[in-house]
Amino acid sequence: MRISKSKFVAGVQCLKRLYFEVHQPELAAGSTEAAEAVMEQGQQVGLEAQKAFPGGVLVTADHEHLGDAIRATRELLGNSQVLAIFEATFEYGGVLVRADILERRSRSKYRLVEVKSSTAPKPHYAFDIGIQKHVLSGAGIHLEGTRLMHLNRNYVFDGQKYDLSRLFVAAEIPKEHAVSDAEISNRLDDQFRILGQPSPPDVKPGRQCTDPVECEFYNHCNPGLPSDHVSLLPGIRTEKVDDLLASGVMSIHQIPDAFPLSTTQGRAVEAMKSGKPWISAELAGELSTLRYPICFMDFETIFPALPRFAGMRPYDHIPFQWSVHRQERAEAPVKRYDYLAENASDPRAPFLESLCQAVQGAGSIVVYNEVFESARLDELVQWLPEYRPQITRIKSAMWDLLPVIRRNVYHPAFGGSYSLKAVLPALVPGMGFKDLAVAEGIQAGIAWGRLIDPATNAEQKAQLKQELLVYCAQDTLGLARIIEALRKLPRAPAR
Ligand code: SF4
Repeated sequence: MRISKSKFVAGVQCLKRLYFEVHQPELAAGSTEAAEAVMEQGQQVGLEAQKAFPGGVLVTADHEHLGDAIRATRELLGNSQVLAIFEATFEYGGVLVRADILERRSRSKYRLVEVKSSTAPKPHYAFDIGIQKHVLSGAGIHLEGTRLMHLNRNYVFDGQKYDLSRLFVAAEIPKEHAVSDAEISNRLDDQFRILGQPSPPDVKPGRQCTDPVECEFYNHCNPGLPSDHVSLLPGIRTEKVDDLLASGVMSIHQIPDAFPLSTTQGRAVEAMKSGKPWISAELAGELSTLRYPICFMDFETIFPALPRFAGMRPYDHIPFQWSVHRQERAEAPVKRYDYLAENASDPRAPFLESLCQAVQGAGSIVVYNEVFESARLDELVQWLPEYRPQITRIKSAMWDLLPVIRRNVYHPAFGGSYSLKAVLPALVPGMGFKDLAVAEGIQAGIAWGRLIDPATNAEQKAQLKQELLVYCAQDTLGLARIIEALRKLPRAPAR
C-alpha cells in the first residue's frame, strides 16, 4: 500500500479521515466551488513562487503518471544545469511526495522549499515538511535545509510587477513547530497499521473535524442535529456541551434551571422553552435612535492571495459590489440603488464614488456587522484619500443592526446563530437566501470572478450579473424588512 503526502497529513489530523480517504472515499462530501477556488488560488501562488527560482524545471507528469514523474526527477537531479526542480517526485517506504520546489545548493546538496498561500507559518505545516524530509532522505537526497515560503502580508504591490523577494517570506519552520523524524516514523507506523485493519478506527467527532482544516467527511461523522440540540445555544463552549451530554441532557428543553449559562444563552433557553421570541424592553428605545433618511447598506468583496491593484497587499479586500436600499421618511417606500463592477479593471474608485452618491445625506446607514463595512471603508480611505470627508460621514452615520439584535432579540428559529442568513427568515417569514442562485458571500466572489472573466460569454455574464444583483439587494432589503418587523414586535415589559 502506498500513501501520499496529503494522505499522511490527513492522517495526522485524524486516523479515521485517512482510513476513509483510502478505503471509503465515496463517503466524502463533494468538492465545493469554494474549495476549488481555494485550490486554484494555491496553484497561482505556487506558480508565482516558482518564478523566484530562475533556471528551475517543472516535472510535468501528472498524478496519473507518477512513475514517469519519479524518472523525470532523477534525470533532472543528474543535470547540474537545472538549478531547481518544481514538483520533484520521490517514493520511499510506501510514501510518495511531490516537493513544491527542490533547490540545488551545490553539486549534491539541495534545499526543500514548501510553498503555502498563507501569510504566516502554521503548526501543521511541520508535518508537510517532515514527511517530505523523511522520504527525500530515504530516497538518498542530501538535504542542506528546508524552507517554508509563504506570502508576506506587509508587501504592497506597485501595480506593475511583483517584487518576489518581498511578496514571499522564506524561512525555516519555527523551532516550536518542528517535528522529529522519529515522530514522523511513529505516525507512519500507526497510519499503515490502521490502514491494514478491516474497519475504520473508532474516533469520535471533535475539534479535529475542523482543525486545522474542515474534514471532507464532516457530514458523514456529524449528521444533522435536531433544532433543539444543546450545542445550538448561541456561543456555547464545547466543554459545556460535553457536560450536558454527559448528564444525559441533549435537548435545550431539558436544561436544568441551575445549569450555568451566559445571559444570551439564558434568553435563548427561555425563547426555546416558551416557543416565542425573547424581546428586551430596551428594543424600542434602540430603534428610536434611527434617523431618516435611512440607508440599508451592504458590500461584497473578494480578498485574493495575490494583490491585483496598486497599493494592495496579499488578501486585501477588493470591493466589487454594493447595494443600498434607501427610505426617505417613515412609511415611504424603500428605493433600491446598486453598483456592480462588470470588468476586471480596478473597481475601487467607481465603487466609492457611486456609493457616496447613493448614501448622501443619510441620517442612519444600517449595516449588519459594522466591523466589515467599516474595515473596508478604512482601506478605501488609504487608497483614495480624496474621499476622506465622505467616508468619515458614512462611518459616523453607520448603525449596526447585529449588536441591536444580540442585545434585544432571540427567536427560537435563530438556531443559535445571529447571522443574517438565520435572522432574516426567522424575523421575516418567507424572506431568506436559500432559494437564491447566489446565496452567500463566498459564492458572490466566485460568481464575480466569472462575470469579469473574458472567457465568459455574454449570455452567462447577463445571468451572473442578475444573480449578483439579486443577492446583494436581498441583504439590504432584508435589513429594511427586519427593522419593520422589529418595530411591530410587541413591546416587552420593562425589567
Ligand atoms: S469528521 Fe472528524 S472524526 Fe470524522 S473522519 Fe473527519 S476528522 Fe475524523
